[in-house]
Amino acid sequence: MKTISLHLDSLLVHAGVDRDPLYGSITTPVYQGVTFRSIPIRGDSNPYDYSRTQNPTRESVEETLAQLEGGAAATVFASGMAAVSAVFWGGLSHGDHVVLTEDLYGGTYRLLEDELKRYGVTYDFVPTTNPEAVSAAMQPNTRMIFVESPSNPLLRVSDIAALAEIAHRHRAKLVVDNTLMTFARQRPLDLGADLVVYSASKYLAGHNDVLAGAVISKDAGEGVRMAEVANTTGGVLGPWDSYLLQRGMKTLALRMRQQETSAELLAHALAKHPNVAHVYYPQLDEAGWAVHQRQAMGPGAMVSFLLAREAQVLQFKRALKLIIPAVSLGGVESLVTEPYRETHREFPEPIRRRLGFVPGLLRLSVGIEDSRDLMDDLMQALDQV
Ligand SMILES: *Cc1c(COP(=O)(O)O)cnc(C)c1O
Repeated sequence: MKTISLHLDSLLVHAGVDRDPLYGSITTPVYQGVTFRSIPIRGDSNPYDYSRTQNPTRESVEETLAQLEGGAAATVFASGMAAVSAVFWGGLSHGDHVVLTEDLYGGTYRLLEDELKRYGVTYDFVPTTNPEAVSAAMQPNTRMIFVESPSNPLLRVSDIAALAEIAHRHRAKLVVDNTLMTFARQRPLDLGADLVVYSASKYLAGHNDVLAGAVISKDAGEGVRMAEVANTTGGVLGPWDSYLLQRGMKTLALRMRQQETSAELLAHALAKHPNVAHVYYPQLDEAGWAVHQRQAMGPGAMVSFLLAREAQVLQFKRALKLIIPAVSLGGVESLVTEPYRETHREFPEPIRRRLGFVPGLLRLSVGIEDSRDLMDDLMQALDQV
């Protein structure tokens, strides 16, 4: 791409896609080959030797992501969890301590609890919405603060700039899982974060047909470290999935606009429905919204809500005709999930209860369908419970 400064919608279409010196294809070719000739075809050396280490299609989507997130480097992985793991493998050693958002993705919780604990990593889940609680949790061996904002599933907002300041004061890194917002809505590196991690299976790829993850670093050295971890542990993204991720991202801004506009309408309608006890949405959370508006460019398209009668969850899901009961989020299809029984079942029962992941809680990922159809479907299902 010629170096001109572009707005996000244009960058999404063009960033990093310039990789066919042979025929000038305007999309990145899928280099399926695992190995490359060791005698250079042209120039002094061949930059590729084996696809676990690097592959031209993967490298192309990594360049796209680094540009879009405003980082020095990006590394893509076979899933969001492979990316989260790489951040921990790359940044933590035996005896280190991590401070994390308490209501975060269930898989990240399980990774620490079931795996990293055995390697002598200690951690504390704290309400990162309160910077004082984070300061109080910092120990001399704290190497990392790991934050989701808004969090999943309660969409609570943490002040990223304040947390970056706390992290750096303690010579620790701030990592932000930006899956729910994406760089189209929130740019953690500009707010002081050191690393951004993604489940690219969600909004970035956007079509519920690619499992992928990514880490983007502010600093080039950290990027080299992530590429080393990827090469060493091997959970890299394959060429086809790299291509699909790059293709999916071209429409990210369009999708986000549609999804967010519908989510705002639905969140306000849900809040008025007598069978809904509470709605969780950044815009409807007074304290959180002030912080969110400072650091993000929109409320996003995830809405969680609590049914007035928790026993009616199954009836509600069965009554839906368009919105699909399924885990995951961020794709073109609207999905509804039960955090208590599905995405967050890894959390022990008392913790789920304390955090508010109760049986009547539902998490709605608003897709790109016409908002009138989504509204009709949601309202008729709610009327039946
Ligand atoms: C889905 C998700 C992950 C895990 O990603 P996978 O691609 O499913 O491995 C991590 N963090 C958040 C916030 C997620 O929603």
